Amino acid sequence: MTVRAIGVLGAGQLARMMALDGFPLGFRFFLYDTSGSPSAGIGTIVSDPHNQQTELADFLRQTDVVTYEFEHLPLDLAERVAASRPLHPNVRALAAGQDRELEKALFTQLGIPTAAYRIARSAAELADAVRSLGLPAVAKSATQGYDGKGQAVIRSLDDVEAAWRTIGHERLIVEQFVTFRRELSILAVRSPAGEIRVYPLAENHHHDGILRYTLAPAPAVTPQLAAQADACIGRLLDHLDYVGVLALELFETTDGNLLANEMAPRVHNSGHWTMNGAATSQFENHLRAITGLPLGDTSPRRPTCMINLIGCQIDLAGVTSLPDCHVHLYDKAPRPGRKVGHINVCADDLDTLHRRVSEALALLPPMVPYPHAPEA
Ligand code: AMP
Repeated sequence: MTVRAIGVLGAGQLARMMALDGFPLGFRFFLYDTSGSPSAGIGTIVSDPHNQQTELADFLRQTDVVTYEFEHLPLDLAERVAASRPLHPNVRALAAGQDRELEKALFTQLGIPTAAYRIARSAAELADAVRSLGLPAVAKSATQGYDGKGQAVIRSLDDVEAAWRTIGHERLIVEQFVTFRRELSILAVRSPAGEIRVYPLAENHHHDGILRYTLAPAPAVTPQLAAQADACIGRLLDHLDYVGVLALELFETTDGNLLANEMAPRVHNSGHWTMNGAATSQFENHLRAITGLPLGDTSPRRPTCMINLIGCQIDLAGVTSLPDCHVHLYDKAPRPGRKVGHINVCADDLDTLHRRVSEALALLPPMVPYPHAPEA
């Protein structure tokens, strides 16, 4: 089957960037919006803010293959899509990606190391979980959480009641607090025939639960660490018979081991660096996989730092005057905490990169400090 029309469930910036990379391959895009506020500004938008699915048949008729940009989708919607069109990644991957309990069970089943955890369905169970895991602990809503929302760090048993009330969810996952050296992520793409290509590990810096910077390839990665990450993501991809790009967020612990934090069955913010820093972007590779085209080269081209633009406007003329600085704006109105774009800064070596990032930051509104800024 020759694929021409791609359906995307979701119409935000990830769908936008997929379309931007898919147009040169001759694809058309139909974006199915369940949020009521599509921002993609590209492709044909089909609106279904209350999941009534009245427009679904029409949407499906126009598409050859369907994917999604967001894992917190109604499962009944995904199942209806999958009954009529190839849906990649499949419903099993979506289900695991939207429920932290299923996700953790999958990690455990596949021997992927992860923080010790318990499930809590009441404040009393939360207290029991914290007692058995030890302090501090991290409580997270089992579903619907993203960008650090629906989470609380519990430092004393006195915090339990407030954490239960603030998260306000019927089922929580409670994890041991991990003392990590740094946060990493790995992205890989799998074809329908089972070929896997892996991007290098990326180093991520979060603040208030939101990704601020990604540095890729992550510096100081031993071959053992890279092999461990490759093995983890490879096991997930094969087990799920996955097609498309998968992201796995990891902690590198202070004793040099990897623990899986969570997976995202989609293109991912920590893979935006690939747009300018790798031979093939994550978006193009995702499209290649779901349409049955040969996978593209995942090799890095040069060190890249992705700076997330959160709720701010930028001096476009200033930033675009800097060498090897690539601006990607999502055409979204700035609001506090809202991702409105990112900048990929590239260089031939890390020292130059860190200097260039500092130069770019000097032109941007105040941001969380860049952890690799050269000493003044
Ligand atoms: P998540 O939504 O699970 O990705 O969590 C958001 C952020 O909270 C992560 O990127 C970490 O910085 C932090 N975090 C999450 N889980 C833990 C944990 N078990 N121990 C320590 N920090 C955590």
